[in-house]
Amino acid sequence: MPLKKQDYGLLSVIIPVYNEEDNVIPLTKKIEESLDGYDYEIIYIDDFSTDDTRKNIISINNPKVALIELRKNYGQSLALAAGIDYAKGNYIITLDGDMQNDPSDIPHMLEKAKTEDWDVVTGIRAKRKDNIVRTLPSKIANFLIRKATRLDLKDQGCALKVFNKEIAKDLNLYGEMHRFINLLAYLNGARITQVPVKHHARQFGKSKYGLGRTIKVINDIVLIIFQRKYLQRPIHLFGNFGLFFFVIGTAINLYLLIIKILGEDIWGRPLLILGVLMVFIGIQFFSVGIIADLLMKTYYESQKKRPYAIRKVHLSE
Ligand code: UDP
Ligand code: MG
Repeated sequence: MPLKKQDYGLLSVIIPVYNEEDNVIPLTKKIEESLDGYDYEIIYIDDFSTDDTRKNIISINNPKVALIELRKNYGQSLALAAGIDYAKGNYIITLDGDMQNDPSDIPHMLEKAKTEDWDVVTGIRAKRKDNIVRTLPSKIANFLIRKATRLDLKDQGCALKVFNKEIAKDLNLYGEMHRFINLLAYLNGARITQVPVKHHARQFGKSKYGLGRTIKVINDIVLIIFQRKYLQRPIHLFGNFGLFFFVIGTAINLYLLIIKILGEDIWGRPLLILGVLMVFIGIQFFSVGIIADLLMKTYYESQKKRPYAIRKVHLSE
């Protein structure tokens, strides 16, 4: 039996906007056309725009459209997080408010998510309409992610995505993590697939980012990968380093102790400084590991989070 539009339940379309006054009205229109017949809500998160974005969203005057107004400019990640927290839908759909994504792609993404049971359906921007300043950082990020994890997606940066609600609500976006939503979801165990989507050049308003994000991207990836591998066992990382330095340092110091006992002068030798330093570094690494371990346990237990996540439980009837 073919899927009916109502079978999806409520859809939440989440759009962070910062100074997109000329985009919000035509974008809403396009979404309404694309989602005609579906049960949906559109959630705009105004990230403290300084133009008429808010006024224009309010003027749409449609009960399906909600506007969340943030108190200051928190950036795209937190704007998305606010929208995801507010969303009530079964499926959560994210897209940019700059009309570069095309809402007419949503229905086939939804269908794929439901019929093939994917947790995330993410877009691949065919023929990306951006210049090198925009595409270079994402090329670097793609490369690093591919090398460091087994996640191999053609386009990590496409904002148009369909999530099932559990995965979206579990993303925990901070800082500028919106660039790595696929990676975060993947590390949380999401099953991700990609489909080609349309992509348009920006017509109104300006892009909010420049080349400066390249370095941030690298730092963020290192952090995410540390968390993936060691969040639940930091002592394995810090402890290994600690042990390494401590053992070598101790060996050096013992050696110096022996030749000192044998009557040689060891004062002022570079090796002595190295030996003492390595013992201290070793102890430091160990202490960091122990503190990180305590923090990790606090992180889980204070929020009553479980260190594992269950996808589904199957019961026979
Ligand atoms: N955005 C936001 N807060 C910010 C910066 C951007 O909510 O501080 C929104 C912006 O309005 C747009 C989306 O995030 O809807 C993506 O921004 P942009 O198109 O500038 O990024 P790009 O596509 O150039 O990477
Ligand atoms: Mg854009």
